[in-house]
Amino acid sequence: MAVLHPLNEQQRDAVLHVDGPLLVIAGAGTGKTLTLASRVAHLVLAGADPQRILLLTFSRRAAQEMTHRAGRLLHQALGLQGHQGAPLLPWAGTFHSVGARLLREAAPRIGLPPDFSVIDRPDAEDLMNWVRQAQGLAHTDGARFPLKGTCLSIYSRAVNSRVPLEELLDAHWPWCANHAPALRGLFRAYVAAKQDQHLLDYDDLLLAWHEMQQASPELAAELAGRFDHVLVDEYQDTNPLQAAILHALAPQGRGLTVVGDDAQSIYSFRAAEVRNILDFPQQFTPAARIVTLARNYRATQPLLAAANAVMALAPERFEKALWSDLAEGDKPRLVSVLNEAAQARWVADEVLRLREGGLKLKSQAVLFRTATHSAPLELELARRRIPFVKFGGLKFLEAAHVKDLLSVLRWAQNPSCRLAGFRLLTMLPDIGPIRARRLLDQRALEGCTLEEMAHAMSQLALPGPAREALLPLCSLLATLRTPGAPWPDDVALAVAWLQPHLERLHDDHVVRLLDLQQLQRLAPGFSSRERFLTELTLDPPEATSDEAGVPLIDEDYLILSTLHSAKGQEWASVTLLNMVDGCLPSDLSTGSPVQLEEERRLLYVGMTRARRHLQLIVPQRFHVTQQRALGDRHLYAGRTRFIPDALLPLFEPDGPAERARASEAEAEALKGPPTMPPIDLRARLRSAW
Ligand code: ATP
Ligand code: MG
Repeated sequence: MAVLHPLNEQQRDAVLHVDGPLLVIAGAGTGKTLTLASRVAHLVLAGADPQRILLLTFSRRAAQEMTHRAGRLLHQALGLQGHQGAPLLPWAGTFHSVGARLLREAAPRIGLPPDFSVIDRPDAEDLMNWVRQAQGLAHTDGARFPLKGTCLSIYSRAVNSRVPLEELLDAHWPWCANHAPALRGLFRAYVAAKQDQHLLDYDDLLLAWHEMQQASPELAAELAGRFDHVLVDEYQDTNPLQAAILHALAPQGRGLTVVGDDAQSIYSFRAAEVRNILDFPQQFTPAARIVTLARNYRATQPLLAAANAVMALAPERFEKALWSDLAEGDKPRLVSVLNEAAQARWVADEVLRLREGGLKLKSQAVLFRTATHSAPLELELARRRIPFVKFGGLKFLEAAHVKDLLSVLRWAQNPSCRLAGFRLLTMLPDIGPIRARRLLDQRALEGCTLEEMAHAMSQLALPGPAREALLPLCSLLATLRTPGAPWPDDVALAVAWLQPHLERLHDDHVVRLLDLQQLQRLAPGFSSRERFLTELTLDPPEATSDEAGVPLIDEDYLILSTLHSAKGQEWASVTLLNMVDGCLPSDLSTGSPVQLEEERRLLYVGMTRARRHLQLIVPQRFHVTQQRALGDRHLYAGRTRFIPDALLPLFEPDGPAERARASEAEAEALKGPPTMPPIDLRARLRSAW
C-alpha cells in the first residue's frame, strides 16, 4: 500500500493499528509526525470520513503541513497526479483553534454569546491591569502586588494545572503567597470583566470546551460522538486540562492516537505535564497499545551521538538512545567566538558559505533561547541583505497598528468589547481616556445602525470636534455590522478608516500601512471575518526581515527561531546561538533542578533539529545579567554546563581564527559596560536597510 511505502515495521504497526488507544513514544526524528500523517491518509483510504477525523497539533503551521502531507500520501496512493496539497482535513489545528470553532458552533446552546472574541496574551494583560487598577491593587499595605503579567501567569497556571491557588503560589511564586486572597478576588473580577465584554482568553477556550463536555449528558454524548478518530502530535507538551478534554472526546480512548517524546517536554512553564504521556498506558489499561521507535531518519550518527550524550547526563534517564543509518558526516562543531558581534558575523559568513555550497537559506536555521538574543544577528543579516523570517518572539500582531486594525474588526463583530472600543476611541482627536470611558459606559457605539449610534451620542454632551471625529467611525461600524457585510472587503474599509489616523499619529505611517496591506492580502485565505480574527489571534503570522511583509513563497530566506518554536521541525543546517551558562540554561532557571532539566531538554530539542550540519556557538564574552541575585551585575559566562569537558570529543572545535582576527580595539571596547541589545527590532531593522 502506497501510504505504507517508506515506513519501517514499527511505524506500519502504528499506522495500521485498529480501534483502541495508541501511544507512539519515541525520540526526535524517528518519524512520529510522518507516522501520524500516514495514519490519517490510511484512515481516509480505509473509508473514514475526513469530517470525523480530528488532528491536534502544536501550531497552525504544523496542522497545515501535516494535512498537506497526508493529502499528498493519499493522492499518491490513489494514483492521482498534480496534487497541490489541498487541505484534506477540515478539523486540523491547535487545541485552542479547534476549541474556538466548537464553542462558536455550540454557543447558543451553552449560554455563550455568539459574537464572543478571543483575546491574546497582551490584551489579556491589559484587561487584567484594568481590573487590578479598579480594585486598587497596585500596592497593598506597602507590599508590592504582583505585576499584571505575573497576575495573568498565575491565573493561567491555576486554570490549566487545576492546582489550588495557595499550593501553586507556594511552589512557584512564594513571594506572592500572602496575596492569595486578593489574587482570588482579582481573578473573580477578571472573569466577570471577560464575561461582560464577551471575551475569551486562551485559557477560557480550553476551560469552556471542557465545561461544555460536562454540561449536559446529551451535549457530552454529542461531542464525544463527533469524531471517530482523534490524533495528537507532541503529546508530551499537553496540560492536564487538554488531557481531560481528550478523555471526554474519545471515551475509553476509542480512536485516540497520541505521539510524543518525553525527552522533548519543554513547556512545563505553561503547565504542560509530561505525566500525561508517561501515564497514558496506565490510563487505558489494558487497552492501550504502545509503539516505540528507535531509528532516527533525520540526522547523521555523529550528530545523534552528541545529542544522546547530552541527554545521557540527565539525572532522569530517557530510555531511548537513537541510532541512524547515516554513519557518514561531520561532528557537530563547537564554535568559539569572541563576543556576540563576532557570533553574528560568523553565522552570516557560515550561512553564505553553505549557500555557496548549494544549501538554500530555507534549509538553514539559527535557533536561540530567548527572542531578543537574535538582535545582533538580525542587524548583521539586514546589513548584508540576507533575508530572514523569525519565528517566536516579536509577533507581527503585537505591532500597535496591526492591533488597531484588528480592534476595528473585533469591535464590529463584538460591540461589547470595551478593550477594542477603548483602543479605537482614544486614537481619535479630542477623545481622551475619560471621554472614551463615558462613551463606553453609555454603550454609545454599540448600535448596529448609524441612527442608533447618533441617538446614543446625542444623550452625551460632546464637543463638536469630538462628535465630528466619531462620525466616520460610527459610519464604518454601521457598515461592518450590517448583516452579511461583504468579507473580505471589510478589511479594506477598516484600513481606509485607519489610514488618516496613522498618518496623524506616526512618523513611520508608510511602513505601518504596508503591514496593514499585508493583512489585507491574507484576509481572503479565511472563510469569514470571525475565522480571520480568531485564527490570527491564536496563531499570528511571523515577524520578517522584509517590511513589505512575509517573503513570497518561492523566495529564499533564512529561518530564525526560538528553540521553543523550532519544535517538530528540521533543517539541513542548524546553528545554536549563545551556548553559554546563564543563557542556556537561562539564569532564571538555574535555581530549580526541575527547571534546569527542562533547559537540558531544550538543548536536546535544538540539537535534534539538524539533519547534516550542527553548529553550537560559544561567545567567550557573553554577558549575563544576574538581576535578582547580584543586583544587576554583569557576569561573563562560560560554555553551557550541559556540555562538560567529558563530552568534548564528540564535538569539533572551531572558530580560533575569529579570535585571532579580533582587533585590539575590539578587545578594548569590551572593557566598557556591555550594551543591551535593542528592544525595538523593527525600528532598528528599518534604519539598517
Ligand atoms: P520530532 O520528535 O522532532 O518531532 P518526529 O519523530 O516527528 O521528530 P519526523 O519529523 O516525522 O520525526 O521525521 C523525521 C524525518 O525522517 C523526516 O524527514 C521524515 O520524512 C523522515 N522519515 C521518517 N520515517 C522515515 C522512513 N521510514 N523512511 C524514510 N524517511 C523517514
Ligand atoms: Mg514530530
